[in-house]
Formats: sequence, C-alpha cells, structure tokens
Amino acid sequence: MSEEFMIEPKGDEFYMQLALREAVKAAEAGEVPIGAVIVKDERVIARSWNQVETLKDATAHAEMLALTSAQSVVGDWRLEGCTVYVTKEPCPMCAGALVHCRPDRVVFGIPDPKGGAAGGWINLLDSNPPLNHKCEMTSGVLQEECLAILQHFFREARAKKKAEKEARKQESSKDPS
Ligand SMILES: [Zn+2]
Repeated sequence: MSEEFMIEPKGDEFYMQLALREAVKAAEAGEVPIGAVIVKDERVIARSWNQVETLKDATAHAEMLALTSAQSVVGDWRLEGCTVYVTKEPCPMCAGALVHCRPDRVVFGIPDPKGGAAGGWINLLDSNPPLNHKCEMTSGVLQEECLAILQHFFREARAKKKAEKEARKQESSKDPS
C-alpha cells in the first residue's frame, strides 16, 4: 500500500492542543483552567473543561465530564480503544473513574507530584490488581503550555484578590471613626 493513502495519525501534541483549548474555555469562565478530550480511532468523541464553580459540583472535573459524554457517544461504559488527553495529571477521583472506564491510554501535560494519581503522588492507573484495568500513561505532552495557562490564571486570581483587599482598606480608611 502506498503511504499517501494511509491516514496520518495526528499524534499526542495535536490532541493536547485541543485539550488546551478546553482549558482556555475554563479560564474564560473563571474556572481553574484544565481541559480534556477523548479520542477514538483518530476522532475526538468528547471534550470538556473543569466546571466545578459553574455547576457548583466538586466532581465536575474536566476528565469526569469528558468520560460521561464519551460513554454516551460510545453507548458503553467501556472506553476500549480510547485515549484520554488532559492538561494536568488526574487527581485520585478522576484516576479512579478513568480506570473504571478502561480507556487504553491516558496522556497528560503537567505531572502533579503533590496530588496526582497517575504516578505523581500515587498511581491508580497501574494498580492491577485490584482495579482490573491498566491504562498506558504518557506524561509531559505540551507541559509548558499546560503549565503556562494555569500559572497565568493563579497569578491573575492573586492580583485580583490583592486589588480587592486594597479597595477594602481604602474604603475603611475613609470611614469617620
Ligand atoms: Zn480530577
């Protein structure tokens, strides 16, 4: 078969760019900017961003929302043949959910040595037994870009907090006492 007739695989960086786009949507909504996409047979079947504040739901992490929508697209809770791309290493909740949904691979941008559950702090994706499934893992894809958007978000949040504090100080100094 001649090479030009083969579908060119797009690669991890391409799909991580799409996950980053989801993270930008989160930032625009005032959410911690983390995004996820799920890919099957070179096709994006689900995409989502962290919506904890928007939905007032602590379980509404990007991966959780993407998993739910991928399962409904596939029509099965088993996400065999799928790869999950997420901009930051999954937390224990998401890693637990991932291993239950059984995607083949999990690819993430920033490793999280403090709270990550894909090898950073603990590893739930590779604990077979007792969880009955093992996800192949790739870390550090577009790590700098994934980190930059998070750092920018937290820098802005700190600056906003400081400005509010200053404004309150000015207000109270105006009070005649
Ligand atoms: Zn999570």
